[in-house]
Amino acid sequence: MTGGSNGWSNWSGRSRSEQAEVRFVRSIDDVAATVADATARGRTVRVAGSGHSHFPLVPTDDVVLDISGLSGVIGVDTDRLVASVYGGTTIAALGRPLHDAGVAVPNQGDIDRQTIAGATATGTHGTGRTLGNLSTRVAGLTLVTADGTVVHASEQEQPALWRAARLGLGAFGVVVELDLAVVPAFRLAESAFPSTYDDLRPEIDRLVHEHRHAEFFWYPQSDRAFVKIIDETDEPASYPLADEGARVGWNYEVLPNHRPRVHTEMEFAVPYDRSLDCLDEIRELVTARFPEVKMPVEYRTVAADDVWLSPAYERDTATISVHRLIEFDDRPYFDACEEVFRRYDGRPHWGKMHAFSGADLAGVHHRWTEWWSQRDAVDPTGTFLNDVLRSWRL
Ligand SMILES: Cc1cc2nc3c(=O)[nH]c(=O)nc-3n(C[C@H](O)[C@H](O)[C@H](O)COP(=O)(O)OP(=O)(O)OC[C@H]3O[C@@H](n4cnc5c(N)ncnc54)[C@H](O)[C@@H]3O)c2cc1C
Repeated sequence: MTGGSNGWSNWSGRSRSEQAEVRFVRSIDDVAATVADATARGRTVRVAGSGHSHFPLVPTDDVVLDISGLSGVIGVDTDRLVASVYGGTTIAALGRPLHDAGVAVPNQGDIDRQTIAGATATGTHGTGRTLGNLSTRVAGLTLVTADGTVVHASEQEQPALWRAARLGLGAFGVVVELDLAVVPAFRLAESAFPSTYDDLRPEIDRLVHEHRHAEFFWYPQSDRAFVKIIDETDEPASYPLADEGARVGWNYEVLPNHRPRVHTEMEFAVPYDRSLDCLDEIRELVTARFPEVKMPVEYRTVAADDVWLSPAYERDTATISVHRLIEFDDRPYFDACEEVFRRYDGRPHWGKMHAFSGADLAGVHHRWTEWWSQRDAVDPTGTFLNDVLRSWRL
């Protein structure tokens, strides 16, 4: 993320607000005073994490709050397996301190640059049939609300607010602290192999069921596929870590990758049982209509959950992601892919590109209305809504 006193842009530079007043905060008191002041002036506040969302969730011409200074592990309760962390902590900065306390987050996404509050706010996930997205790990959260009041929500305390705000899109308030459900630290061994899509397709369900993590990339304009498998291991970690696809190490060392090519991305969560049919249609589409597209199509799985706006809400899920390099117009490709995803009852990734309206989102998210009533109750002035979010309210 970049930003001085004026102007904010995301990782790719595609999502921007030139006029934003960027405010940098280091303490909860400062967050509370800054938000209360903005509300009193009738201004919108959007919180920025690491700016790794492709979708324009953050931009506003009013106040963008940068909470990267509010970072670190507050404490780990190893009996209850709960880690309390500041919202602005990057996933990269969580790995080692949690490990030193003997615990780990069971899964994470493809990179570790996101903040934990930003990642949980959008349902960020890795791959693994039995593994939920990061929002499912939110056992409790501490929010600074529009008038500067600090509120804590968990399954025991304000349970409806907790259910809604675990995946909150920055629309409930500023998440300053999170209680994460963790597991004992574990080691992973990663392997990878090339295949052809035709050879791989009949094997995918088996790989998904036999391994803790399985994913693959299919390369458009070819039959090439690249499969990655990761399982728990008792083997010792081996340093220096080998390249991606051959590593043995602790969870936080093996799961994240380096993804330097600046791109935009669309991803939809589709029912696992129909996911390969959906992927076949995407493959036919790319081959027939978009011969210029070379960036891979990625396939991962996510466990069903009970987080209200989760793309995996109450259904076993596969996610299919399509990418376009930043220098190209992604709209024609993404629009055509979205038509396919819609036919498979797809739910868009909150942090990636899509063209869903509020009515479309309500059609795929069965808790949409309840989510909005919890949100409106905690932010009656609409301080935390930018134009995009406001346009989604039914
Ligand atoms: C290279 C790359 C790789 C990616 N890999 C994956 C992946 O493997 N899996 C996956 O699911 N996604 C992936 N993503 C998407 C990314 O994980 C999400 O978009 C995530 O939300 C980004 O986190 P962030 O900290 O950058 O948040 P931002 O993008 O800055 O913000 C996201 C949302 O969180 C809100 N927010 C941030 N901080 C707070 C806070 N403290 N309080 C309240 N609201 C807050 C914002 O207002 C906004 O609504 C990837 C993105 C990129 C660019």
